[in-house]
Amino acid sequence: MGMSRRQFLQGGGLAAAGIALGSSPGQANADAPVTRIKGLTATTTICPFCAVGCGLLVHTKNGKVINIEGDPKHPINQGALCSKGSSLFQIANNERRLQKVMYRAPGSATFEEKSWDWALSRIAMRMKETRDKSFKASELNKKDNREYVVNRTDGMAFFGGAGLDNEECYLWSKFARAMGVGQLEHQARL
Ligand code: SF4
Repeated sequence: MGMSRRQFLQGGGLAAAGIALGSSPGQANADAPVTRIKGLTATTTICPFCAVGCGLLVHTKNGKVINIEGDPKHPINQGALCSKGSSLFQIANNERRLQKVMYRAPGSATFEEKSWDWALSRIAMRMKETRDKSFKASELNKKDNREYVVNRTDGMAFFGGAGLDNEECYLWSKFARAMGVGQLEHQARL
């Protein structure tokens, strides 16, 4: 059925009058968050995406994440989140998120599932192999034709990420230096 512009505006006016007379918008807004999370467990945590470290409230029911929002009591973000932080719910509830180790062997066209223990052992083994092959105890300086102690490997590089906090960055850089890695960078500088 068609509707004229006048009929549409008259209908909208009646609806607006109904809202104004039938309820208190201020009261409804104040109650909405409480109703929305009623019966859920709220747990505080920190956004993992960047070093701003915004505080979060994670609401769960029977072990399942139902809602994630900014923590209004957190001194850094006071309840606000950027667009990445606002999408955190999708990290917990996303059927496309990879949650297992999938390994594709060199030359293979297919991925196979592996355990985390297998993956960590393999990474450690490959790092040691690479370091052993590429480690230099000393290097000739062509400017003065003298040999200098360098104790480094040019065979690998380390990357830090924005999700690392100060203490993690400290440990990461110490680990890299202990391995003899000179190529130590941060994702935010690329
Ligand atoms: S990604 Fe956004 S919400 Fe998360 S800590 Fe950084 S600024 Fe805060």
